[in-house]
Formats: sequence, structure tokens, C-alpha cells
Amino acid sequence: MHFDTQTRRSWIEVNLSQLVKNYYIYRKQLSQPVKIMAVVKADAYGHGDVAVCKALETAGVEFFCVSNIDEAKTIRNDGIKGEILILGYTPIECCVDLIKHNITQTLLSEEYAEAILNSGLKIKCQLAIDTGMNRIGIDADDVDSCEKIIREYAKKLQLTGLFTHLCVADAEDFTSVIFTKDQIRKFHAITEKVQDLQIPNIHCMNSAGGLFYGGGDIVRLGIILYGLKPNISNALPEGISPVLTWKSTIAMVKDVKPGETIGYGRAFKVIKPMRIATIPTGYADGYRRDLSNKWYVIINGNKAPITGRICMDMMMVDVTGIQCRTNDEVVLIGKSGNEIITADEMAKEIGTIGYEIVCGISKRVPRRVLY
Ligand SMILES: *Cc1c(COP(=O)(O)O)cnc(C)c1O
Repeated sequence: MHFDTQTRRSWIEVNLSQLVKNYYIYRKQLSQPVKIMAVVKADAYGHGDVAVCKALETAGVEFFCVSNIDEAKTIRNDGIKGEILILGYTPIECCVDLIKHNITQTLLSEEYAEAILNSGLKIKCQLAIDTGMNRIGIDADDVDSCEKIIREYAKKLQLTGLFTHLCVADAEDFTSVIFTKDQIRKFHAITEKVQDLQIPNIHCMNSAGGLFYGGGDIVRLGIILYGLKPNISNALPEGISPVLTWKSTIAMVKDVKPGETIGYGRAFKVIKPMRIATIPTGYADGYRRDLSNKWYVIINGNKAPITGRICMDMMMVDVTGIQCRTNDEVVLIGKSGNEIITADEMAKEIGTIGYEIVCGISKRVPRRVLY
């Protein structure tokens, strides 16, 4: 999106050199050389998929995962040459588009695979195997039936991969570790049976899986690419840090007196003289309304607590004692002076995950790319 400093209201800065750095650091800490499939679904976790894919392709990434056909077409049409795998559902009517844009489709179930077969097109596919997530894939518990299905599709379609998805790889407690190891074991029990087919892409690791359970040969790397944690309690390898900064501007500053209230519902009561700044970012920008009266922004290196309810397009913050004025920069996510706000911490405050915070930043917030 075009970035015009004259109309700066609320915007994101995407640091592509940090993104590439995260990719290299992650790869380096794995015990063996692996292939990385970059997970760029949901507009690269809100970072802007085209810029992210181009930077990664330049850095040597040859494989991209998206969630749907529109995302796949967007990056393909913008010149991404690598393989593109759709991890989720695509309506069968779109099969022609898969062929046309050279996109690989996940086979979600036997029923879905039959429908793909019936299209009569020899589509590139990867088969999902369910080892315990109960989301998509054929059931890993019946190894013989899995083998039969894989052999059949290997004959009738262009079957280029088999994968499963780990559901608690980010949790480091004993029960979760046992569960994850069992998922990996179930997956390998099946892939070993069909080794002779030499299916090129056999993968079961997400960011956390690769970090805690070794890479296998391929990692589908999502959240850590963007410098965020799969789980707030995980420690990331040294040097990996967030790629995205979210900024806004001070629209006005005013003084308020004891007895006044701030914003909708009069949810903040002024009990001492205060200075309040109005920031032109609100929940329509994806700034979570449940942070009302709870969280803070950073202005000129100082914490400025949110006062009252976050509005659709604005919020008010306490800048009492902070040197600031209209048009000063406000950091919503990122660093300013010695202060830092991460999407992960912000998420923890409201009982969610960093993934949801960054994916939730609205499309009306322009993404500005820093190289
Ligand atoms: C989203 C997703 C990933 C990436 O997960 P991260 O935790 O972001 O690394 C990998 N595989 C599948 C199937 C996914 O849906």
C-alpha cells in the first residue's frame, strides 16, 4: 500500500531484514539442515504477504503455505515462483485455478480427495494425516487403511507430500511432551510404510515443533519467522525478535479536572488533574477493545496508560507528566526509548495469543515496508 507521511494516522512498519534474520537464526539452531516452508497465511500473519514472500524468496525460501486459494493467487500473481501449498479448504469448483496457477492443494479427507479425483484434473496435492488434532486429515490410527489411501492417490493424482499438524508442541509440560512425541511416532509409522513411493515432502513440524523436537527434514515455519512466540512461556533463540511495529500519532492533547470522566460509558473517572492525549487508532483498526482501561501505549519512551474505553477509531491515554504534543509518534506495538510492547505481552493481558493480535490488525492500517 502507498504510504503517505502526510496522511499518517495509524500504520505498521514491517522490518524485512529482521524477518530474514529470524529465518536464518531459526534454521541455524536446528540440529540438521532442513527445508523451511514459510507459512504466510492470513496476509503473512498480518505483516503483508507479498513483501514478506519476496524477501524470503530472495533469502532462499522455495516453499510457501497459505490458507486458501485467494491468498495463493495473490502471491502467485505478484511473482512468487516457489511452490505454494494451500493448507485448508478450497471449493472443488476452484480446481481449474489450482492447475492454472500451479498451486498445491491439501487433501482434507477421503471424501474431499474423491471430489478432487472426480474433477478429472491431475492436481498437485498433499495429503493431511490426523495424528490427534482432529481438524483435518485421514485418521492415523488405522495404519493399513492410511497406506492404502496414500497408494491410491499417489497413482491417481500428483501426490507431492504427506503432513500432519502438532497441537501442543508449544507446551513444555510432561503430558504435552508425551502427546507430541506420540503424534510424531504415529506420523512416522505411516510414512515409513510408503517410503518406496518417494513422496518428496514429508513434514510434521510447526515453529514450536522444530524448536523443541528437532526439525525433521522440513519445518512449516510460521510465528517465529515474525519474531513472536508460539507460547508466551517459550524462550526464543537469541537474536530472534519481532518484525512488526505498529505506530500512530497524537491527534490532540488536553487537560482534564477531577470529577470529569473519559470516553464512552464514562468508564474512566478523573480523580486528579490529568493531561489526556487522543490517539487516532481504535478497534476498527484491530486495536483490541478489551485492552480498555488495562493497557498502555508508548510516547517518547514513556508508558501512557489507556484511559476509558477504546473507541472505533480513537483511544485516549494518560500523558500526565510526559513531554509530548500533537503529531508526536505513538508506539502501539514495538520499541520507544527503553520501553517495549510486544504483541505477545499484549495478548497475554487479554487472554489470547500474539498470533491473534497481529492477524487482527485491520486492512485499513497501511503496511510500510522497511528494508
Ligand atoms: C499455521 C500453521 C502452521 C504454522 O504454525 P506456527 O505455530 O505459526 O509455526 C504450520 N502448519 C499448519 C498446518 C498450520 O495451519
